[in-house]
Amino acid sequence: MSNLGFIGLGLMGKPMAGHLLAAGHTIHIYDVVSAPVKELATKGAVACSSAKEVAQKSDIIFTMLPDTPDVEVVLFGKDGIAEGVKSGSIVVDMSSISPIATKEFAKKLAALGVKMLDAPVSGGQTGATNATLSILVGGEPEVFEQIKPYFKLMGKKFTHIGGHGAGQTCKVANQIVVAGTIEAVGEALVFTSKAGFDPRKVREALLAGSAQSQVLELHGQRMIEHNFVPGFRLKLFQKDINLALQAARSLGMSLPNTATSQELLNAVAAQEGLDIDHSAMVLALEKLANQKVSG
Ligand code: NAD
Repeated sequence: MSNLGFIGLGLMGKPMAGHLLAAGHTIHIYDVVSAPVKELATKGAVACSSAKEVAQKSDIIFTMLPDTPDVEVVLFGKDGIAEGVKSGSIVVDMSSISPIATKEFAKKLAALGVKMLDAPVSGGQTGATNATLSILVGGEPEVFEQIKPYFKLMGKKFTHIGGHGAGQTCKVANQIVVAGTIEAVGEALVFTSKAGFDPRKVREALLAGSAQSQVLELHGQRMIEHNFVPGFRLKLFQKDINLALQAARSLGMSLPNTATSQELLNAVAAQEGLDIDHSAMVLALEKLANQKVSG
């Protein structure tokens, strides 16, 4: 068994690292926030005081961090992975970040004799907790095969899409679908309420037909209950939508529905802040309709 490392123990990283630990692996952990480190250490994980220390003690290092600059700091900043990593190690970045920066990071790590996979995930906090994530992978196919046994502990589907950055590009595509679907589910539920019918009944009926989706199931419920305790913070969703819009611009194409979703999120952020769940997009639609979703 390899010595594993896991850096970034937030809403997603903590349960994911927990699955590796529960399978009997030795796992070295670090987060700038001490609470999740302490919690996993009581279950047998080895607490480290920096990303550098994790790298010194591990052969395979997983990262699950908020955004591109966070991954850059953890990889190449002071007391970062690059300062402690052994040649021959593998870094598996499971955060959702820029595909372009990912390619640069892979190149810099290769110069240290370190392989990298980008392996962002889809399936949300529920998927992380239940180990049912879909893992979208970029990098060398041989490295993907090497890491597969660990992916199996965290997810139910793992797809090698292509070279470095391919996993992140696939994640951007995922978020284009999710943004449009959250917007459509929100519109449908506000419409139902405005028409004077019970959105709970409508959600249940739609779940049995061709409008069925995980977004309707999980986020439709959240919208009806106005329960916006974050499973996925609006701030991070806006980061993903920005990646989509930037990529579209560089490709010379338009993503009209994605752009509209970002504007709706901007409106919600102005009122509610950035730490609310992304399904709160419905609040902007409620304002436009002068109608709350109420079940
Ligand atoms: P989060 O903010 O809950 O967790 C991020 C963790 O990283 C935090 O514990 C934070 O303290 C830690 N961190 C930040 N900077 C650090 C540093 N320099 N060194 C060590 N630790 C550091 O975010 P999350 O919801 O777990 O999301 C993580 C990633 O997964 C993001 O890229 C997000 O877009 C993606 N993602 C999230 C979801 C979801 O539903 N929450 C779903 C799919 C993908």
